[in-house]
Amino acid sequence: MSLHTLTVAELAAGLRARQFSSLELTLHFLGRIERLGPELNAFVTVTADRALDDARRADESLAKGEGGPLAGVPIAHKDIFCTDGILTTCSSKMLSNFVAPYDATVVERWRAAGTVLLGKTNMDEFAMGSSNETSFYGPVKNPWDPRRVPGGSSGGSAAAVAACLAPAASGTDTGGSIRQPAALTNLTGLKPTYGRVSRYGMIAFASSLDQGGMLTRSAEDAALLLKAMAGFDPRDSTSVDAPVPDYGAELATPLEGLRVGIIREFFGEGLDPAVGKRVQDAIEVLRANGASIVEVSLPALPLSVPTYYVVAPAECSSNLSRFDGVRFGHRCDSPRDLPDLYKRSRGEGFGDEVKRRIMTGTYVLSAGYYDAYYLKAQKVRQLIAADFARAFGEVDVVIGPTAPTAAFELGAKTSDPITMYLNDIYTIGANLAGLPAISIPCGFVQEGGKALPVGLQLVGPHFAESRLLSVSHQYQQLTDWHRRVPDGYA
Ligand code: GLN
Repeated sequence: MSLHTLTVAELAAGLRARQFSSLELTLHFLGRIERLGPELNAFVTVTADRALDDARRADESLAKGEGGPLAGVPIAHKDIFCTDGILTTCSSKMLSNFVAPYDATVVERWRAAGTVLLGKTNMDEFAMGSSNETSFYGPVKNPWDPRRVPGGSSGGSAAAVAACLAPAASGTDTGGSIRQPAALTNLTGLKPTYGRVSRYGMIAFASSLDQGGMLTRSAEDAALLLKAMAGFDPRDSTSVDAPVPDYGAELATPLEGLRVGIIREFFGEGLDPAVGKRVQDAIEVLRANGASIVEVSLPALPLSVPTYYVVAPAECSSNLSRFDGVRFGHRCDSPRDLPDLYKRSRGEGFGDEVKRRIMTGTYVLSAGYYDAYYLKAQKVRQLIAADFARAFGEVDVVIGPTAPTAAFELGAKTSDPITMYLNDIYTIGANLAGLPAISIPCGFVQEGGKALPVGLQLVGPHFAESRLLSVSHQYQQLTDWHRRVPDGYA
């Protein structure tokens, strides 16, 4: 097996056993990024010098038997995380010249665990999108079929890990941006409980929904990386002060006795039958190995897309008001006066989707419409959270597809925002309710002569990451879908 197809767990063990050095590993990945990266457009910035420095430092620690749990393991960060002294663009023209003056907590913690930074990955502009086509740096391609999207908004992270250009990468999930790209590229993608991972230094889209997480080759890797990044941070007022379990140790929890609820509302109209079949097959694997399966109904869940597209734009319109041409990023040439500076800097700096969200958000928050839209959406949000809470009175996890279809073709949905928004129909509920959720590979469908991956989604009660990870890990001990690598990248 080649170095680049190994998991983080395998790489960390190999490094510690001195089977290979971090420098060797890092050069190997940098070589792949140089060779295979451009056609996928997965990276905005490759930090080769920094990676080599990190690697040398890790090798020194490892030689002394020291270093963090991930000493010497290369990773990539979504370009939404601030990285000290390194360009941090959010894939927007607005921040195309922004060098962050500090590290996000997630960046700081993965670094403290010993990781090596390969670079910053492409994404939808300000994390708004489901296909990575809204990036100022151009679309990312799916390594399973370069005519198709990798999903979004963490599409660069997904493509990089799926094509084995990095063993793992960070992502953020506001409405599905870790899970949906994971599903479309055959990866494991975890969105932790809201508050589990600090948002400090993670450029804000919708603050009550945003949560950092990771895209990996296995649930075991997600456990290792979550352990390294989770926990209280006084710099994020919504970060929760609760102990971080040893996710790795809890992976061994068996499937026997697990109570699984199939979400009835996720198997209706709109779901590609072939995708539904793969998900049903995966549920049968859980059943055959000791889980009890029942159907649960979450009647308010179909309202999650309209609810989200009020709440998320409202919060984004407020968050993005800081990009005004004065303090950060792009500033227009020779402004006439202050209003002209604001108007032209924002007009030039933001792309169409970002503008659409800011306008929608400003509208739903405006006097006269606030009650009808924003307040109503907040009420429906509570109904959705209550549906989940009721379900978790009966079952340990709820289950369904991650996305209604496999990867779609580039350009297929760009002219119709509503169709694009509907791609998140199964992922948004967990964000509205602040719940942890994971997507794991569960098979393939054939389309246009290509095998395209399908994702299985599990959602758990608040802080049930351990459970989601152990169920996923047990499933990955019984199947090898997650081990498949796209042709040409093995
Ligand atoms: N696709 C959704 C959106 O466009 C979710 C994005 C995300 O999770 N960051 O808003």
